Amino acid sequence: MSTSLTSLTIADARAQLGDRSISARELAESHIAGIEASRALNAFVSETADRAIADAARADARLAKGDAGVLEGIPVAIKDLFCTKGVLSTAGSHILNGFVPAYESTVTANMWREGAVMLGKTNMDEFAMGSSNETSYYGPVLNPWRRPGDNRDLVPGGSSGGSAAAVAAQLCLGATGTDTGGSIRQPAAFTGTVGLKPTYGRCSRWGIVAFASSLDQAGPMTRTVGDAAIMLKAMAGYDAKDSTSVDVAVPDYESVLEDSVKGLRIGIPAEYRIDGTPAEIVALWESGIAWLKDAGAEIVAVSLPHTKYALPAYYIVAPAEASSNLARYDGVRYGLRVDQGDLTEMYEATRAAGFGAEVKRRILIGTYVLSAGYYDAYYLQAQKVRTLIADDFKQAWQKVDVLLTPTTPEPAFGVGEKSDDPVAMYLNDILTVPANMAGLPALSLPAGLSSQGLPLGLQVVGRAFDEETVLRVGRALERAAAFDGRPAPWWRSS
Ligand code: GLN
Repeated sequence: MSTSLTSLTIADARAQLGDRSISARELAESHIAGIEASRALNAFVSETADRAIADAARADARLAKGDAGVLEGIPVAIKDLFCTKGVLSTAGSHILNGFVPAYESTVTANMWREGAVMLGKTNMDEFAMGSSNETSYYGPVLNPWRRPGDNRDLVPGGSSGGSAAAVAAQLCLGATGTDTGGSIRQPAAFTGTVGLKPTYGRCSRWGIVAFASSLDQAGPMTRTVGDAAIMLKAMAGYDAKDSTSVDVAVPDYESVLEDSVKGLRIGIPAEYRIDGTPAEIVALWESGIAWLKDAGAEIVAVSLPHTKYALPAYYIVAPAEASSNLARYDGVRYGLRVDQGDLTEMYEATRAAGFGAEVKRRILIGTYVLSAGYYDAYYLQAQKVRTLIADDFKQAWQKVDVLLTPTTPEPAFGVGEKSDDPVAMYLNDILTVPANMAGLPALSLPAGLSSQGLPLGLQVVGRAFDEETVLRVGRALERAAAFDGRPAPWWRSS
């Protein structure tokens, strides 16, 4: 097995596939071998090696004909929240036990049309609820990174933790994630990878298991900013099957990546300097500011005064929508069914056995905030707060082109460290949630290591449908940060 094939970027693999110096088949095979040797990470719920080999054969044939798509022959992993036709799709939940969809999500269908090769479905927090990948029915995913000299397991972040771990451990060249409150960007930050949450409406939600429909958005997880640009192009696009999909052209993100950031105005929001943020995260943020300034950008202090209400409002809106979306899991049409007593007892027994503790907590919170007596006090209030948060960003866009912030208030933490304290867990989303509340595109890229040797991310937030500028600024930061950290492969069985 060649490790060099698994360390390629998507851009390099595309070039080598294009000039036929490598084949899609050998690229797929080296990744399959890597996945088999890396089961200790628990990054996958399903491995689809046979499918990958078949996809690769088709890709090689198209490459030979000169008829290649944007992702032709590129081996990718798919978060298990995406429905994939004929392939088990679990959302990390026992309640979707044995669910094999009869249809394909639009985003994955777009990727297959462009020639991508499917390696498998990645593990995730149950129904994408979590920040550590410890809520999956299929067990926790481990972060490929450990603190040097310390063999304790760390979380990869969540909910797209399997995708992030797979990308970081070189088990795929890229993976899909979804981000409702930070689930692409936070695991990207924890694993030293790149994650992009596009504008709400940029990628179709059709065929993605719903968590909080007004916030959910699919996006790419990769090892470089350029690869995120390539993947997004293939994933994005208008879809009549998703009523919130927006009919705007998908630009060629790659073509603007290397453009200078000279003259761009970079906003630094005062409110993102949260009390208790470790000095090293503040220092990394300051490095990011200096790098962009050196590249000719203008740094502008801005204020987003309602930032502190974003997290509490999110934890009303997201559970409210989740409690409604999850009402469909009743044991009747698909997934788990626990036969017991009459119909109502069957519903109750199925839902009691099928949902994990975090999902039950969200359903309880959601039904409470939507209940007749509390609707105005909680849900309606949270919706108003959401408008104020969106307005803060609108004001900021009068003065700046993007915002620069840290992605998370801390580096990866230990497995089990926060599992008994939901509020401590929720606080991990404090810097990522506002972009979801406002529907804005936001990128996390690895920018340095903590004093304990763990990756730290910087976040770039942009105007709606301006992923181009977000990626361009991300690329400038990537160039300056020159992050080349890789985890030592302690997990490999061969
Ligand atoms: N960690 C957040 C939550 O648990 C965000 C999850 C997500 O973005 N899917 O709700």
